[in-house]
Amino acid sequence: MKVIPIRNHEDACAIVCSDCGRGMLAQDIGKKWNKCEFCNDPICISCSHYMRALVQNIWRDYISVRRVCKKCVIKF
Ligand SMILES: [Zn+2]
Ligand SMILES: [Zn+2]
Repeated sequence: MKVIPIRNHEDACAIVCSDCGRGMLAQDIGKKWNKCEFCNDPICISCSHYMRALVQNIWRDYISVRRVCKKCVIKF
């Protein structure tokens, strides 16, 4: 008989910050981590960078703050 351990739900949902490698849980999105708005990589709160961008649409232009990772900040 062979016993195969099943990892618990939290382990299965573990997400790693693309910048510092810190582990985060899927249910903590918006609290402890978020996704880079350009490359979609998960980033923890302390690695988040904020960048202002001009958004243009047919009614008006406005400044919007986008959350990005370190790699994407350097690109811009
Ligand atoms: Zn991080
Ligand atoms: Zn990014």
